[in-house]
Amino acid sequence: MNENILIVEDEEALRMTLGDRLRSEGYVVEFAVDGREGLDKATHLPFDLIILDVMLPVGNGFDVCRDIRREGLATPILLLTARDQTAEKVLGLKLGADDYVTKPFDTLELMARIEALLRRVSALSGQNIYQFGPIRIDVRGTKVTRDGVAVYLSAREFQLLRYFAEHVGATLSRDEILREVWGYDAATFTRTVDVHVASLRQKLEADPKRPEFIITVPGLGYKFEGGKGTAASS
Ligand code: CA
Repeated sequence: MNENILIVEDEEALRMTLGDRLRSEGYVVEFAVDGREGLDKATHLPFDLIILDVMLPVGNGFDVCRDIRREGLATPILLLTARDQTAEKVLGLKLGADDYVTKPFDTLELMARIEALLRRVSALSGQNIYQFGPIRIDVRGTKVTRDGVAVYLSAREFQLLRYFAEHVGATLSRDEILREVWGYDAATFTRTVDVHVASLRQKLEADPKRPEFIITVPGLGYKFEGGKGTAASS
């Protein structure tokens, strides 16, 4: 399997127990000890699933959950909530969590929930894989690789690339990109688009000065090309 799981939990004993157990099941595990670190890792590294404790120092689990979704990331989130706090569970789900288990939890139950969530995601992600030459974009898993090597994108860069991939071959104006990817109505920040395009080119293009994928259309905007003789999506 080798799915990547982020555990955001301040209790060291629980972090270690859970980490060991997940590793023994074949998962790759990363840790964060508070809300700030959790959000930072969740939005900068590609994970298949996030286990998020609600009671955390420096930004609780609800804040982190909400902020991850605000960044546009769809990574499944499993909340660890306190026992019998129905209001907490409802709030967590409203803020974008996918499931929860109550503490203290049965490890077998937690493992089953994790497997179920990952299965649900992989069933969906079959329709969300784009392959453009060497570049592979896993939309649901928010992962990008070039020649099989992971490319680390910020959440916004990922959203921009996804938008390009969904509109392959179409000329897109900066205003349109800004509105669709950033959600701004005003056309005052179009330079933002250029900055992010430059960054994406640095990360994805073999020669960023002579891009094969993200092409500038003078006077109009940008066009995403599928690369030479490739463009396949499923
Ligand atoms: Ca805690």
